[in-house]
Amino acid sequence: MQNERAIALIRAGFKSVQAAEDGPDRLARSFFAHLFAQNPDFRTLFPVSMDQLRRHFILALGYIFDNLDKTDRVEPFLEQLGRDHRKHAITGAHFRAGQSALIAAFRGFVGNEVWTEEVEAAWADTLDAVSCSMTVAADNDELPPYWGATVVEHHRVLDDLAIIRLKVDASIPYYPGQYVSVRIPQRPNLWRYLSPAIPSNPQGEIEFHVRRVSGGWVSPAMVSEVSVGDRWAISPPLGGMSIDRNSPEDVLMIAGGTGIAPLRAQIMGMALRSTNPRVHLFVSGVYPCDLYDIETLWQISLSNPWLTVIPVTEDYEDPWWHSGPTRELPWGMHRQLYGRISTVVTQFGSWADRQIQISGSPSMVRTTIYALRRNGTPMEHVQHDPL
Ligand SMILES: Cc1cc2nc3c(=O)[nH]c(=O)nc-3n(C[C@H](O)[C@H](O)[C@H](O)COP(=O)(O)OP(=O)(O)OC[C@H]3O[C@@H](n4cnc5c(N)ncnc54)[C@H](O)[C@@H]3O)c2cc1C
Repeated sequence: MQNERAIALIRAGFKSVQAAEDGPDRLARSFFAHLFAQNPDFRTLFPVSMDQLRRHFILALGYIFDNLDKTDRVEPFLEQLGRDHRKHAITGAHFRAGQSALIAAFRGFVGNEVWTEEVEAAWADTLDAVSCSMTVAADNDELPPYWGATVVEHHRVLDDLAIIRLKVDASIPYYPGQYVSVRIPQRPNLWRYLSPAIPSNPQGEIEFHVRRVSGGWVSPAMVSEVSVGDRWAISPPLGGMSIDRNSPEDVLMIAGGTGIAPLRAQIMGMALRSTNPRVHLFVSGVYPCDLYDIETLWQISLSNPWLTVIPVTEDYEDPWWHSGPTRELPWGMHRQLYGRISTVVTQFGSWADRQIQISGSPSMVRTTIYALRRNGTPMEHVQHDPL
């Protein structure tokens, strides 16, 4: 995307931010302060709580700067980012304003000694190219910024977990394994990513599995406050987790908690086909009660012999506060394995001959990637959503 010298300058600058105490958070705060000072009307486009936005902003910058020399990675990412911003009514003019706010923030961070003409030119050219890619993608997207959807079922399967089914006003064209952004009436202006747990269908039915994150802004409301009839907004699909059907490699899927959703959607999509690669699906939770979807997965595996479902939990028993019945695994199912999912999966070897997908909390995904890497798994075989 840029020349080598400019890329090196940008990366060195961003590394100095990452190395400084609270550097990323300070840069993000300074960026939004400049943005809102120069464009006061922009503030209404953003939520009251900016914590998650600041985190995502820094993660996105890190990904972009790391991949500036890999056009095949950075371009699709920027295009998705540009399209995703349409749900906030953010367009080309906003991206350009963001560009000058980021330059001001970075300049303030590193100080005038480091901020030479060459550094300024590297940042200006790079951010020009970034905002141009985002703008072109946003302007040319044929899908609406979001669809309306009505909650038709809210099923509290655990105290901290709900399965929520909605009927979208029109069918959303997502591939199984992709994710979307949703906004609920209880938390206006706050968008959160969720992965549909079923493939897209012409009736516009969609299903999400949501776990309450303690202290979170939105997930507790999704689990405890959502009612049938609520109207949600759902943005166009993002992400590209998928199985390469032309590859000779079989598939390993590793799910933690509600991370089962995008894997289950893909398995349901595969079940509509006559031939499939072999799939080993590890479904994990801390307690046996966390395997809330195991019966459905077992039913799918009964009529699809290419699928093996392996239940894994860290504890042998449910916690004392769990009020539901003790879950019995279906007769004939693979015996339950115990331990941390990363340890259990890697006990079977490196899975070097598989396409691998990992889905779960950021810490579960990171720990599992680390364990696989240590075991010799080629990392180019591993897919996961952004953390
Ligand atoms: C691609 C993608 C797909 C996702 N799909 C799903 C899904 O299908 N179902 C689902 O329940 N969630 C899913 N999530 C997570 C979801 O988007 C929210 O991040 C989560 O529900 C917390 O939102 P919140 O507003 O309650 O917490 P926030 O107010 O955003 O965060 C509160 C605190 O919790 C931490 N936190 C945020 N998310 C998690 C987490 N998952 N585990 C542990 N700590 C966390 C934050 O770092 C922060 O410190 C997905 C996330 C991504 C990136």
